[in-house]
Amino acid sequence: MRKLVAGNWKMYGLASSLAEIEALKGLTGEAAYDIVVCPPFTLIEKAAERAKDSTVAIGAQDCHPQISGAHTGDVSAEMLVDAGARFVILGHSERRVFHHETDAVVATKVTAAHTAGLTAIICVGETRSERGDGKAIEVVGGQLRASVPAGASSSNMVIAYEPVWSIGTGLVPTIEQIEEIHSSIRQMLEERLGEDGRNVRILYGGSVKASNAADIFGAANVDGALVGGASLKATEFAGIISAAA
Ligand code: PEP
Repeated sequence: MRKLVAGNWKMYGLASSLAEIEALKGLTGEAAYDIVVCPPFTLIEKAAERAKDSTVAIGAQDCHPQISGAHTGDVSAEMLVDAGARFVILGHSERRVFHHETDAVVATKVTAAHTAGLTAIICVGETRSERGDGKAIEVVGGQLRASVPAGASSSNMVIAYEPVWSIGTGLVPTIEQIEEIHSSIRQMLEERLGEDGRNVRILYGGSVKASNAADIFGAANVDGALVGGASLKATEFAGIISAAA
């Protein structure tokens, strides 16, 4: 399956950071992978302009479940499309923790994203204590079943397995641990979507760097990566992307 490498800039990036996107455009000639950059809301429109006529797609990091309304400070999926986004990250653990987003909320956001024509990158992952209790597969399975709404398919959804304990910590699961969870996600997707479950891309996320990307991409059922810190500088992010070729 063609790999997808997505960068999550989180709450980093000013107009001067858009040069990083320019630098990635030079990589796209190989076209062996898809590249997505998800900057903060404020940069989406400018980022989409910079990425125009390249294979770098632009995504957002959240959206509101409704199309419009009295929701001060929120941004709808339709607004993201209008600004030039094609993807949106939903259910990231930082939103689940700091914004108390439940699986049910995530599912309504995914539906809103689909209605607007966005591809949703749905994040799931266990905490350190859940893994310690031997519950990683159970937790990830529960999140997946409840966060994926009706109407989701391989053409409008990507799953990102992001163990919470690995995000921003430098700690990475072993390849066997990654394969175990990814294969259980694949199984659940097939149960839910039938044959189409085989075509859904399952990304790994958590402390991916240029130095560990090739090993991670070589694991079974790993169809790309969701990258936080290492996506902020094009030189490091390019090293990860190249490992997907
Ligand atoms: C993330 O925030 O989605 C992430 C994977 O972060 P990092 O790569 O910095 O661990």
